[in-house]
Amino acid sequence: MPTLAAGKKQTPRRQGRPAPELIFGDLWTYDPAPETADPKLKKRYELFINGRFVAPKSGKYFSSINPANEQKLAEIALADRADVDAAYRAAKKAYDTTWGKMPGAERAKYLFRIARLLQDRAREFAVAETMDGGKPIKESRDFDVPMAAAHFFYHAGWADKLDYVAPGRRIAPLGVVGQVIPWNFPLLMCAWKLAPALAMGNCVVLKPAETTSITALKLAEIIQDAGLPPGVVNIVTGAGETGAAVMGHPIPAKVAFTGSTEVGKIIMRSLAGTDKKMTMELGGKAANIIFDDAPLDQAVEGIINGIFFNQGHVCCAGSRLLVHEPVADRVIAKLKQRMKVLRVGDPLDKNTDVGAINSKEQLARITALVKSGVKEGAEMFQPACTLPAKGWYFPPTIFSGVSMSHRIAREEIFGPVLSILTFRTPEEAVEKANNTAYGLSAGVWTDKGSRILKMSTELKAGVVWANTYNKFDPTSPFGGYKESGFGREGGRQGLLDYCRLV
Ligand code: NAD
Repeated sequence: MPTLAAGKKQTPRRQGRPAPELIFGDLWTYDPAPETADPKLKKRYELFINGRFVAPKSGKYFSSINPANEQKLAEIALADRADVDAAYRAAKKAYDTTWGKMPGAERAKYLFRIARLLQDRAREFAVAETMDGGKPIKESRDFDVPMAAAHFFYHAGWADKLDYVAPGRRIAPLGVVGQVIPWNFPLLMCAWKLAPALAMGNCVVLKPAETTSITALKLAEIIQDAGLPPGVVNIVTGAGETGAAVMGHPIPAKVAFTGSTEVGKIIMRSLAGTDKKMTMELGGKAANIIFDDAPLDQAVEGIINGIFFNQGHVCCAGSRLLVHEPVADRVIAKLKQRMKVLRVGDPLDKNTDVGAINSKEQLARITALVKSGVKEGAEMFQPACTLPAKGWYFPPTIFSGVSMSHRIAREEIFGPVLSILTFRTPEEAVEKANNTAYGLSAGVWTDKGSRILKMSTELKAGVVWANTYNKFDPTSPFGGYKESGFGREGGRQGLLDYCRLV
């Protein structure tokens, strides 16, 4: 039961985890409610190559750290070029001998099995994801893990209906594909990448991000348990050098990358002139646009969800708010009120809204950009809060009085930081929203259906949410415009990016 502790500081103690030291002046405080499922972590994780867990040829390992308390969680194998080469050879052999020849209806059975096994181990995976990445347990439990399973279910359904992916045309798999993913949705990004590739009949070498490799390797356990033929999925771990080896290897017919625009450009430059197919899911600087006729309370909830969800570690985060001038003061007042009751702290606590920042480096990046906002003259608001003494945290932050020339209005912060601008006319809103190098997503909040339709055709963004934000479904294609990348993931369009027309 919640207890009211208006203005009263409490520091409840818990064994094995730092005390949640965050208390807001006017916040209902709850007793600690830690998720207790066993994440079944190993002390050491090896590479997953050719259906087996194998030590890296270099014998080197690196640590995966829990960002909530800076404790080491496990050792992760560091794959070098020779390991990546072994993974690709295993994938090619699997494609040539088993997976590439298997009827779609048979492949579907494996994908269904992966989805079911993931559901069986959902709580264990959610806890592992939260410990490794820092996101609140309610997100990994209610969003990341179920959505990852949903992607496998959805693509299992496609595997025997591939004739309908491109009606009137014959399609064929590409062969072997290489995939590199970021740290913000570690398991979900695995599912986004693996499920369509496998449904279509391709074999894969995948590299997770160096700060969040654990759930990808736990998924490898499931892949083993599901009985996938050896080599169909290979998981190699390491940082940028390993990623470059995965993207630059001669075997894959396609590479799929999700990560920063900066690294995406490096990869595109290095592959220019090759015949490799490519898809790039890169950064974003989305605008959430609120008109004066919008249901304001609902919109404020959407904005909060859009930027503070997963600590703003979301490529499509609504990191810019464009608010109609007549309601700007009301919206900002409501936002501040709502921010005061956000719970920041231990990600494993079921009541936590904003968890830990994924790494020390990311925290430094957010801090530097926030300082630039203050220096450039924007007005900052952060709710009064005490962050846990250990671990990497950043308070929810909004800036008002922002102009388009400010760095915080242009650069991707990838943290819980919202930049607020105002507009007078729909044309001005569109112009400001599109005035960015990115084009991944946008949100429109208004009572008028006609305005939603007009805005969504004029906004240069891959996804436009209307009167909601951050909603996902495996049937909906997701992807960007401009420097947010190209190619789509999800839906029929996502499958098209893993096949060739013959
Ligand atoms: P990042 O680009 O630093 O790293 C992404 C991955 O690339 C990691 O696995 C990393 O090890 C690897 N890598 C680093 N250097 C490499 C190189 N030279 N060659 C090949 N691989 C290399 O990005 P990040 O910090 O992990 O993730 C955050 C970024 O990802 C943000 O910009 C975010 O917007 C973007 N993102 C985009 C989407 C999308 O769907 N558009 C989804 C999630 C994240």
